[in-house]
Amino acid sequence: MIAVLVVAAGRGQRAGDGGPKQYRRLAGLPVLHRSLVPFLEKAEIGAVTVAIHADDAALYEAAVSGLEAGLAEKLRDPVIGGATRQDSVRLGLQALVAEAPEMVLVHDAARPFCSGELIARAIAAGRLSPAAIPATPVTDTIKQVGAGGVVVATPDRAALVAVQTPQVYAFAPLLAAHLRAHDAGLSHFTDDAALVEWAGLPVETFRGDAANVKLTYEADFISAETRLSGVLVTRVASGYDVHSFTTGDHVWLGGVRIPHDRGVEAHSDGDVALHALTDALLGVLSEGDIGTHFPPSDPEWRGASSDRFLAFACERVRARGGVIDHLDLTIVCEAPRVGPHREAMRERIAAIADLAPARVSIKATTSERMGFTGRREGLVAFATATLRLPVES
Ligand code: MG
Repeated sequence: MIAVLVVAAGRGQRAGDGGPKQYRRLAGLPVLHRSLVPFLEKAEIGAVTVAIHADDAALYEAAVSGLEAGLAEKLRDPVIGGATRQDSVRLGLQALVAEAPEMVLVHDAARPFCSGELIARAIAAGRLSPAAIPATPVTDTIKQVGAGGVVVATPDRAALVAVQTPQVYAFAPLLAAHLRAHDAGLSHFTDDAALVEWAGLPVETFRGDAANVKLTYEADFISAETRLSGVLVTRVASGYDVHSFTTGDHVWLGGVRIPHDRGVEAHSDGDVALHALTDALLGVLSEGDIGTHFPPSDPEWRGASSDRFLAFACERVRARGGVIDHLDLTIVCEAPRVGPHREAMRERIAAIADLAPARVSIKATTSERMGFTGRREGLVAFATATLRLPVES
C-alpha cells in the first residue's frame, strides 16, 4: 500500500496576514484542499493523512469538508504535528504505521499544483529506490556568500538541482531514520531527504515539475490566483445532426424560420444547425449529448424551439467557467438555399450564445445530388465548437 503524508502544521507567517497559508483560499478553494486532491485521485494511493497544527482543527475540517465522498474515503484522521517540520513528519509517520504502507509520499501542503504525472513519477521512482526526490534544474547562477554578503564561491550550476515535494520513501527506513534522529536529539532537518542522507541511505532524484511551486510569499499567492483563474485551456469538439424532410411549408435552421416546400420530421422543431451546435458544446464539456439532457421520449420537448437546447449548453459552459471562442457550422442540403439566411442565422446563434456574430461561422454546401441530401430526403449539419475551459475542469 502507498500512503501519503501531507505536512500542514506550519504557521506560514511569511505569506502575510491571511492566516496559515495552507488554509487560505486560492481561486475559491483552500490551498490544502487543492494540495490533497491529486493524491486522493490517484488509484494506487490507499491512505492520506495530514499533519496539522493543534490550533487548526476547525480550519482543517473546513478545508476537507468540500471533498467528494469518493475522494474523502482515503483521508485518515489528521495528526497533530510538532514544533518543527521534522517533528510533524515523525508524528505523521507514526500515525501511518497502522496502515502498514510499503511506500510513503511526503508532500508540503503549500504546494497545491502537484500534477498527477508528477505523483506517477514519484511512485515509479519509489518502486526503484528506497528514497527519491523530485528535482528541477537550477537556472539562476548560485553564489555562496560569507560575512557581509561577500561572495566566497560559485558552485558549478550543472551539479546543482532545486528540490521539491512529493518526496518518496520506503516507509520503514524513513520512520527508522526519523526515530534515530529524534533519539539523537537532532531536530534541524528541514527536509526528509537531508535526514535520510544523515542516516546513511542513498537518495535518488527524479524529474520534478517547475509548475509545482511552493506558496511562500504574498506574491506567490497573487501569481497562483492569476494562474488558476486566468489559465484556460482550449478544447474543441464536433457535433452532427440530420433530419429527414416531410410534408410542410418551412424548416427551422440556425434559429431562423425558412419558408420551404417541405418540413422536417422531428420531435422538436428539427433545427439541425442548433442541434449540431448543442452537441458540439456538450462534447467539449464531456457532458453527453442533446438526447442525454432532452430525451425525445419526454413529451416536454415536443415541438420545442431548439433555442433552449443551445441556450442550455451555453449555460453549462458558463457554469464550468468556460469561454466560447468560436462556433462553426456546415449545413448540407440541396434546398432550401442557405445563403440568403446566413446573416440572420449568424445573428440569431450569436444572440442565443451571447457571442459577437464574428465568432459564429456558417458555411453551406450541397452534396452534388448524391446521397440522401442529394436526393433531397433531408438535411444535415456539422458543427465545431472551440472553447477555453479552466485548466482543472
Ligand atoms: Mg436533431
